[in-house]
Amino acid sequence: MNTVPEPILRFAPSPNGLLHLGHAYSALYTADWAEKLNGRFLLRLEDTDPDRCRPEFIEAIIEDLHWLGLDWPEPVLQQSERFDVYEKQKLTLIEHGLLYPCFCSRAQIAAIAVNTDPDGAPIYPGTCRHLTDTEISHRIGKGEPVQWRLDTAEATRRTGMLTYTVLQPTPLDRPQIRYARPERWGDPVIARKGTATSYHLSVVVDDAAQGITHVTRGRDMEAATDIHILLQFLLGLPAPLYTFHKLILDEDGKKLSKSRQSLALRNMREAGWTPEAIRTRLGF
Ligand code: GLU
Repeated sequence: MNTVPEPILRFAPSPNGLLHLGHAYSALYTADWAEKLNGRFLLRLEDTDPDRCRPEFIEAIIEDLHWLGLDWPEPVLQQSERFDVYEKQKLTLIEHGLLYPCFCSRAQIAAIAVNTDPDGAPIYPGTCRHLTDTEISHRIGKGEPVQWRLDTAEATRRTGMLTYTVLQPTPLDRPQIRYARPERWGDPVIARKGTATSYHLSVVVDDAAQGITHVTRGRDMEAATDIHILLQFLLGLPAPLYTFHKLILDEDGKKLSKSRQSLALRNMREAGWTPEAIRTRLGF
């Protein structure tokens, strides 16, 4: 007999700063969907970047979310404790000939790149795609830092065209099937220099590990879903359903990340905002 899996949703911030109003919207949106679907709401900490993530931001995130009235089951998955899991998946992709080592610096890439990806970053021109084994061993032997890139052309040749399902914010609208277009990212980094992983690898591995059925994220992150759908397929992981929510903008119509301070939840709290007033301001 087929059983429908319990809906499981997650809010997955990176603890590299204070939560702002945009995060509050995303967290409340996710919790709201979880409630409507009669499912579970999880918190996940995406802290694989040791240069930017700090323990005090983790404490602040937990405190701010509780203040907003949100709760979640323990233990909270913390990605920095799972590098061994990501390493295994990275090795699987390497063994299948889907990743290649790249030694280029950002500046080198920026100097010769011609096109940009959906985030506006230079598309990798493929300099290291065809290095010989001898050259690779020589450069690794010399201690050159290495990152691992997805060979997107080879990966999509194997998978063929992939699609994903997007649920609309109102239940009366039909779900949409969209094509994943990973080629518009060039060969993205799957394991950054000095670590076993990247945002893209950890997010698909953990969505599967936690049985996430619905990924709720801002519209600004829809394009990255191209890479996630491809990685899920290559690693044999299930693809969740997706929904992309509106972004909360500042007075100048810009995304909130740049104006974290004025609209950081704790600064708003100190300025006298209540959780109820924040919910109302965000339309919940
Ligand atoms: N950790 C990501 C961020 O803070 C979001 C993760 C996701 O929704 O895929 O931007």
